[in-house]
Amino acid sequence: MSEVSACVGLGANLGDTRAVLAAAYCSLQQLPSTRHHRCSPWFISAPVDSSGPDYLNAVACFDTSLSPHALLEALQGIERSHGRERPYRNAPRTLDLDLLLYGDQQIESATLTVPHPRMHERAFVLLPLATLLPGAVIPGRGPVSTLMSSVAGQSVWPAD
Ligand code: ATP
Ligand code: CA
Ligand code: CA
Repeated sequence: MSEVSACVGLGANLGDTRAVLAAAYCSLQQLPSTRHHRCSPWFISAPVDSSGPDYLNAVACFDTSLSPHALLEALQGIERSHGRERPYRNAPRTLDLDLLLYGDQQIESATLTVPHPRMHERAFVLLPLATLLPGAVIPGRGPVSTLMSSVAGQSVWPAD
């Protein structure tokens, strides 16, 4: 059974965001066929292309033998279990789980694009990812450390 290292972006801006993020990370740790879980520190970010209160963000990585589409379905199941609704695009959300990286694979399907197509332009993704995996490279985009310089103007700060 071959394993890859997968990275997931976690975000919440409704309700008790700290409790939601902690519970979501627990749920990720309980996914079948996953191990060696690690999570970045948590960061707060102002909404980008979105509305409502500030976001709490983190990036979690783990090794998995789940297929990328099975993993996406599992992430959507965790979102639903936290009451995620999609009333309109970029609406405030209790929990958002994006599949950022799946090994070094590039995937384009009707339901899944990996690497996540907007991750390289989002400080709230790059900063936690760089903290957890300083040497990370986004396939087709380049090293996270290089991409960080182009998002320096975005407001993201450590959650204490
Ligand atoms: P953004 O994708 O810009 O971060 P969002 O997270 O608010 O926006 P969602 O409403 O959560 O977008 O997801 C819309 C659809 O995106 C999902 O139904 C899913 O099929 C698709 N999708 C494509 N690639 C990915 C990915 N890498 N991770 C998560 N969802 C993805
Ligand atoms: Ca998202
Ligand atoms: Ca999403």
